[in-house]
Amino acid sequence: MRVLLVEDDDALRDTLLQALRQAGYGVDHVADGRAADSALATGTYDLAVLDLGLPRLDGIEVLRRARARQDRTPVLVLSARDGIDERVLGLRAGADDYLTKPFALRELEARVDALIRRAAGGLTRLSYGPLELDLTNRAVTIEGKPLDLTVREIAILEALIKRVGKVVVKTRLAQQIGDWAGEVGTNTIEVYIHRLRKKLKPYDLSVRTIHGLGYMLETCGEN
Ligand code: CA
Repeated sequence: MRVLLVEDDDALRDTLLQALRQAGYGVDHVADGRAADSALATGTYDLAVLDLGLPRLDGIEVLRRARARQDRTPVLVLSARDGIDERVLGLRAGADDYLTKPFALRELEARVDALIRRAAGGLTRLSYGPLELDLTNRAVTIEGKPLDLTVREIAILEALIKRVGKVVVKTRLAQQIGDWAGEVGTNTIEVYIHRLRKKLKPYDLSVRTIHGLGYMLETCGEN
């Protein structure tokens, strides 16, 4: 999955770049509107994250030009605080979603994931046995009832459900819950797995340890 990141604020661009890369996306980044326009015109992206206030060519104009070329790349617009007019303009120019600065990185990631999924055909739910994960709201239910999980526990569960029947390596899980503030150690993963096990046990679900490799989601008694 390739994302084009367009942001002229160096610090913010670096932060977003790191977050998107850690979320598993391949990212190209540019810092002005003209570079964005030519990147979109020549490259193929699964998503563009587009700041509106840009040097050389306004973000709105970048978007208008892309849509005029029949470029359907999903676009997530970043707008300034209280920039209601800006957001409306952005949506009218063909943006698919927007985020108002400042925003939490987790929200950016959730919206990026949602837009890419929507473009890919609208997979919004994952399920395994009695377990259901709503990817849009990042909520988990089991036997139809809400299961109280933290954001990180949900991220780990998502990785496990996506690979049911296969081993998910520890480093993959560390990437899944890692954030720009720093690396997540494998000991931390063990803590989250332990908590998940406790919450899933009453429903006969378990997370099996495959020694030296990683983890696998399964129903109890499967082995
Ligand atoms: Ca800007």
